[in-house]
Amino acid sequence: MSNEYHHVLVAVDLTKDSHRVLERAIPIARRNNAKLSVIHTLEPLGFAYGGDIPMDLTSIQDQLDEHAKSRLAEVADPHDVPREDQHVVVGMPDTEIHRFSKENDVDLIVVGSHGRHGFALLLGSTSTGVLHGAECDVLAVRVGKAGEETAE
Ligand code: AMP
Repeated sequence: MSNEYHHVLVAVDLTKDSHRVLERAIPIARRNNAKLSVIHTLEPLGFAYGGDIPMDLTSIQDQLDEHAKSRLAEVADPHDVPREDQHVVVGMPDTEIHRFSKENDVDLIVVGSHGRHGFALLLGSTSTGVLHGAECDVLAVRVGKAGEETAE
């Protein structure tokens, strides 16, 4: 078994913390000659409005996908991540990150992690969810404390 990583997956929530996470992940991918992919997951519309509204949400979901793709490009383009390696998927972050990782032979997942204390710790977090159930290494990059991050 080689000690090098071959495929690094960076999960970004599109807050400004995403840059810190990418800045940590990119040199690791370079040193390992690894492929680097970036993923952002989008909550399905049906989760919020499931069944309550008698209308087809497909076109709205498509518009949200497109919007998320362009926001992801704004985050990932400055780091020279090719567009074909920028992925927007619909679903829950941990589930979709695990699925993508398995399907694409990812061997290192990089997430941001907020320093949580007390009650907030009990509520869990995306990074904890990604760690549990991951079949590969997971790197949690410490970003600001929960609640301190600014959404752009
Ligand atoms: P935490 O502070 O532990 O909840 O984890 C925040 C980190 O989880 C972010 O820095 C991302 O790496 C990841 N994350 C949160 N939401 C998403 C999302 N919608 N898509 C992809 N990754 C996400």
